[in-house]
Amino acid sequence: MKKCKTCGEEFEPERKTAVYCSDKCRYHNWLANKKRVTIPADMRFSILHRDGFACRYCGDRPPKKTLRVDHVVSIEDGGARTDFANLVTTCNPCNAGKGKKSLDPSEVPPLAD
Ligand SMILES: [Zn+2]
Ligand SMILES: [Zn+2]
Repeated sequence: MKKCKTCGEEFEPERKTAVYCSDKCRYHNWLANKKRVTIPADMRFSILHRDGFACRYCGDRPPKKTLRVDHVVSIEDGGARTDFANLVTTCNPCNAGKGKKSLDPSEVPPLAD
């Protein structure tokens, strides 16, 4: 038995290399990946600029931390992909801690002046 990478259900793979229980799960994962990597570059920059080039969770800046732009509510949970309100600047450690989880938007610290 194997665990499906999308839904986590156990299934009997037809092929040894199978990682999804069904075409539906394979498609869902493909879609999630496709959406996740396509925040347009200019939008990414706008978010960094809005957040003052500092991590919204810990406040660290480069070169101490590498910054990235991440979704507050993940795409998998129905978050908007290119909505300014759903995007935050994070550093790699903070983002790694969050993983693919969604946050309550009210948990994101407000912007410093
Ligand atoms: Zn599945
Ligand atoms: Zn951080």
